[in-house]
Amino acid sequence: MDYASPPAEKTWQDHLILNEFYPLLTLEQPRRTPMRELISTILSHRTTHADEELAYDRMLEAFGDWAGVLAAATSELAHAIRTTRWPDTQAPRIQEVLRRIQTQTGGEFHLDFLAEWPVEQGMKWLTDMPGIGLKTASLVLLFNFHKPVLPVDTHVHRIAQRVGMIGPKASADKAHQVLLEQLPKDVLVLLNFHKHNYWHGQRICLFSKPDCSKCPLKGFCNYYLEHYGPATPEALAATPKQWDKAWGALPH
Ligand code: SF4
Repeated sequence: MDYASPPAEKTWQDHLILNEFYPLLTLEQPRRTPMRELISTILSHRTTHADEELAYDRMLEAFGDWAGVLAAATSELAHAIRTTRWPDTQAPRIQEVLRRIQTQTGGEFHLDFLAEWPVEQGMKWLTDMPGIGLKTASLVLLFNFHKPVLPVDTHVHRIAQRVGMIGPKASADKAHQVLLEQLPKDVLVLLNFHKHNYWHGQRICLFSKPDCSKCPLKGFCNYYLEHYGPATPEALAATPKQWDKAWGALPH
């Protein structure tokens, strides 16, 4: 395994190494409800986790339940979710999403039908809605319904580019397709690949200044090669094998 290894091998090696570096996730771990996952992900666009949670809580405090959110004046909903980046855009989107869910279920607000649908059908239904792209649809289908899809957020995308799992200019949508083809259609593999790279991007492979000294991917990462040259045996030996809790808690 080295810098010239094929992209698919790098992807698999990234998965194996980060599986050792970070805690393993299992399917039993509690997740947010599908409705919460869907609406929160819409609210989270370019918004911090704390502000997203505040918007979500204020919305339900103000209007009681999903029927109340749908019936609310759109301007009042926008005010309730004002801690998000674009409340005036998100408010009508949320109401349209709720309207479509209500139509699909015959008047209720849940996504249980997605459990029975094939992956492609669920993906299409979700991504046809305003403000819901591949990432949001994949998050809901993977975390809530254990479907074999891969959410590619900004962290997964950046690391895949830097390491060389995908081309340096490949878009996030392209990364969805390429990485999914490279990985087995195994829900646990996809869940851990997503979450481990997400944590890695939040804590080590940062957008502005990646902390490569701590990174166990340096032996085959293109970015490392370009900036520091091939990793020396000393640098590899000094690389931690696991996340050190003294560096701080992992994100949600
Ligand atoms: S070696 Fe550096 S650039 Fe490459 S994945 Fe690790 S932290 Fe990111």
